Amino acid sequence: MKVLAIVVGAILVMWIGSAVATILLHRNLRKTASPNGEWSGPLYFPNCPRCNTPVPRARVPRSLRQTFLGGWTCESCGCEISRKGYER
Ligand SMILES: [Zn+2]
Repeated sequence: MKVLAIVVGAILVMWIGSAVATILLHRNLRKTASPNGEWSGPLYFPNCPRCNTPVPRARVPRSLRQTFLGGWTCESCGCEISRKGYER
């Protein structure tokens, strides 16, 4: 019976653990959505808010601020685009 208790315990821990992980993941996903409902996670690539040119997929930081906070510099108009796709 000891083995059964260990198996049941392990299943319970995995079940609760995955439930907690799912809740945390969903919270994180909601946090990465910008106020207009658009996705802004690590795979989000906005268009330039000024000239609507898609940002380069490979991000090359142009300044210290971009290195730490993310964001892009538009290649056609030079506009600074924040991580969430706003002009700054
Ligand atoms: Zn632009």
